[in-house]
Amino acid sequence: MPELREGTCASCGAKMLWSTTKSGRSMPLDTEPAATGNILLHPDGTCEVVPSAELEAKRNETPLYLSHFATCPGAASHRKPKE
Ligand SMILES: [Zn+2]
Repeated sequence: MPELREGTCASCGAKMLWSTTKSGRSMPLDTEPAATGNILLHPDGTCEVVPSAELEAKRNETPLYLSHFATCPGAASHRKPKE
C-alpha cells in the first residue's frame, strides 16, 4: 500500500487519498478499494484508469479503487445514471 496524502472532500467531508495520474493530474480516490473500482493504484502513488476491456482481468489480480468524483454524494452535477 503506497503512502498517499490524505485529504478531506470539500463537498461531503469524506476522507480521500490523493493520487496522481500519469499525466500529472491530481486524482482523489476513495480510501478503500471497491468491487466496482476502475482505477489501478501503483506502489509509487500514481494511478491510472483501467480501460473497460481490461477491467475484469485486472479485478482478479488486484484491488481497484474508485475516483471520489465518481462516488461523492456532493458531486450531483457529475453523477452519471447507473445502469
Ligand atoms: Zn465528496
